Amino acid sequence: MGPFGRSLSDGDRLEVAGAPVRLKVNRRARRVSLRLDRTKREVVATAPSLRRLPEAAAFAHERAGWIAERLAELPQARLLAPGELIEVFGRPVRLESGSGRARWVEPIDGSTPRIVAMGEGEGFTRAVILVIRRKATEVLTARTAHYAERLGAPMPKVTVADAKSRWGSCKPGPRGTPGQIRYSWRLALAPFEVADYVAAHECAHLRELNHGPRFWAHVRALVGDERRYRAWLRAEGARLHAIGK
Ligand SMILES: [Zn+2]
Repeated sequence: MGPFGRSLSDGDRLEVAGAPVRLKVNRRARRVSLRLDRTKREVVATAPSLRRLPEAAAFAHERAGWIAERLAELPQARLLAPGELIEVFGRPVRLESGSGRARWVEPIDGSTPRIVAMGEGEGFTRAVILVIRRKATEVLTARTAHYAERLGAPMPKVTVADAKSRWGSCKPGPRGTPGQIRYSWRLALAPFEVADYVAAHECAHLRELNHGPRFWAHVRALVGDERRYRAWLRAEGARLHAIGK
């Protein structure tokens, strides 16, 4: 039992200064520590062992001021509103309030596409995100097919989810069978080239399950110098994760 009158477990959540704090055991950690996970918008309090989790919790309470400051620095969480112009894969898209099923409207005259959804506030935001997610699935599936073919790998199964910490992940299938690639739908909020780089990156893992020189050679053969895309994700990733929260 810890000082909070109950035993704590790995993954438990506390609230400190109105902020979510997740407790984590990491056996390689040398000491109790705090860090901000910008994409999950939470603080992680790490302890080297289960026995020392209460110490990590106490440390988080002690550093409440630091936690409040770090969270205040994150991009404002925001909802989407009718009338707003957003970018989907780098293309301007107008958000519009309207009845019926939430949908993507592509005008035949080539003018700005629209996302039409009902309601306002959280309901509107959720409906718009659903439409963006469908578009993300369509575009990322097509780019995956393109790169898998160029790499001579069988087309993997593609899923698009709300991954909190990764833009993509890849599980190659055993011996020449199709693998599995998952993407975050939020890639649709990045410029097309950045999302496209992530597709090339995950497809390159169908050939090389590591980040060694052979892996990067595949990536560069597909999209050229990848450093600017990675830099973009590092700099702007937190902003993409603030939308719809
Ligand atoms: Zn990777």
